[in-house]
Amino acid sequence: MHDPGKEHCQAVKWILRHIRNTVDVGLIFEQEDSQYLVGYCDSDYAGDLDKRRSTTGYVFTSNAPVSWKSTLQSTVVLSTTEAKCMTITEAGNIRKINFCQFCGGSTKHEIPDGEEKVRAICTRCGKIIYENPKMVVGCLIEHDKKILMCRRKIQPSYGLWTLPAGYMEIGESAAEGAIRETLEEANAEVEVQSPFAQLDIPLIGQTYMIFLAKLKTPHFSPGPESSECRLYELDDIPFDSLAFSSMLVTLKLYIEDIKVGRPKFHYGIINKRPGTSPSEIHAYTLDYHMQS
Ligand SMILES: [Zn+2]
Repeated sequence: MHDPGKEHCQAVKWILRHIRNTVDVGLIFEQEDSQYLVGYCDSDYAGDLDKRRSTTGYVFTSNAPVSWKSTLQSTVVLSTTEAKCMTITEAGNIRKINFCQFCGGSTKHEIPDGEEKVRAICTRCGKIIYENPKMVVGCLIEHDKKILMCRRKIQPSYGLWTLPAGYMEIGESAAEGAIRETLEEANAEVEVQSPFAQLDIPLIGQTYMIFLAKLKTPHFSPGPESSECRLYELDDIPFDSLAFSSMLVTLKLYIEDIKVGRPKFHYGIINKRPGTSPSEIHAYTLDYHMQS
């Protein structure tokens, strides 16, 4: 910068123009119920006029911004695609595993021999830390042509409606987990009758296994994680205040099945539309839908 030229003058003008057009834009910190982390990232291309380097920018928000960065990339890229790629990689580092779960040593991120993906590798004990999806198990309980639903008393999705479901535990089967979750959330004893839907959500590393079930006795009441439990007629299901896309898909598939006969078994992949928040449960596509 010891010899500023025309390009630098142009850059200063850009900055001033940017400031003038964004004086009424700011970060707002306000309290909401959502506990989701949402990230946005972008880059320019060779915006640094001296060294032709591009700029990485990202922001992660959870109601309010929690982490953000705008920095020159460490190497010169040859295309806008490459610049974006570097940005996504850098933003993705936020979620990286930094410590070994076996010995507590710090990790490095490399592609191990014979593998294809970057993994966290412990620099002390050498173990590779693999991340695998989690299994969520639950029950779709029909009773007198109504569906048993729970209103969540915990985050995420506090106050919204869901089917009784939760993470499967080590040492239990999917069906046992679904029965246990139903007992915990709705104090209801159920008998599992058949698998109804397996729904994968690759973006958040979850797979849902929902079973059709019947109440053993017609008793239920809210468990510690529910504020309310009730049976909904199919026409009255609160589609405007459901907790998760997975429940929306499950209930829609079930209602479609019932309209034309009896429940089938469904498999599908729930892909969230890019750039949408996880709390926008209607912003998804159901891909690779198979039924039998
Ligand atoms: Zn280790």
